[in-house]
Amino acid sequence: TAKIISGTEIRKSILAEIKADVEKMKAKHGKVPCLATILVGKDPGSVSYVTLKIKTALSVGFHEIQDDLPEDISEADLLALIEKYNNDPDIHGILVQLPLPMHIDEKKVINAINPDKDVDAFHPVNVGRLMIGGDDARFLPCTPAGIQEMIVRSGTQICGAEVVVVGRSNIVGKPIAMMLAQKGVAANATVTIVHTRTKDLAAHCKRADILVVAAGVPGLVKPEWIKPGATVIDVGVNRVGMNEVTGKVILKGDVDFDAAKEIAGKITPVPGGVGPMTIAMLMKNTLKSAQYALGDL
Ligand code: NAD
Repeated sequence: TAKIISGTEIRKSILAEIKADVEKMKAKHGKVPCLATILVGKDPGSVSYVTLKIKTALSVGFHEIQDDLPEDISEADLLALIEKYNNDPDIHGILVQLPLPMHIDEKKVINAINPDKDVDAFHPVNVGRLMIGGDDARFLPCTPAGIQEMIVRSGTQICGAEVVVVGRSNIVGKPIAMMLAQKGVAANATVTIVHTRTKDLAAHCKRADILVVAAGVPGLVKPEWIKPGATVIDVGVNRVGMNEVTGKVILKGDVDFDAAKEIAGKITPVPGGVGPMTIAMLMKNTLKSAQYALGDL
């Protein structure tokens, strides 16, 4: 059976590393990274994400600024707040929790964030920097960065590997494919992107030494599509029902985990795989932003 790549465990190591770096920063500069989180409205999913981000930021020693804005805030007021934070040298990361209410233009908001404080890495400047690669890619988008980190820390060789990415979204599929195909460390792979219009999904997946699946379709990848010994990263988070006893939502990935783990060499579970990594990488970006601001990078 496959080795299970635990996002929960890797996250712990990453957060401990960040905490140690924050202590060094505090000793050297008398400053710590500061993350501003902006939440508009009270969508329960968004509230719980933001709460977890704040809790994690505080746990690694960051400062936190939290704005809970009313659902009906105007776009202009939101943009003004972002501008204020853009100009505040003590704020290193600005995170606007998405999605935003219908009356606010999400693109306009993302574009308003100073790219050097855009710790989600959704600003077109950061998307472009990722494409250029190397030192230009200051902030990597959090979920793809988490995926790359898991592949590396699982001991999987990326250089020269055949990678197949299922899905071509802007937040997962496209960026992870580009990151793994780049020249450089934790990269140099031969990458294929497959999607809804791909003719023979199975044939592509079968060639993959590293299979990254981000389709949002529960159980899409069948065990017989997996190359024996491959590293399988399942990004999918699908709510497939509710446990009647505990009342908890049942989550399933895009890969048929129980069968796949008999064939893969290494595999991520859902939950407890890629999910926990995303917030850890948000913290890493915020730390990095502060290190740049203080001249340490
Ligand atoms: P998306 O819906 O934007 O994109 C899905 C992509 O998969 C599309 O490009 C589509 O072409 C492809 N696809 C869909 N069905 C397919 C099929 N049957 N065959 C081949 N390709 C198919 O989704 P997304 O935002 O990239 O997210 C994908 C999954 O990852 C979702 O389940 C989402 O919840 C999860 N996700 C998890 C995290 C995390 O754990 N931190 C973060 C982001 C997304």
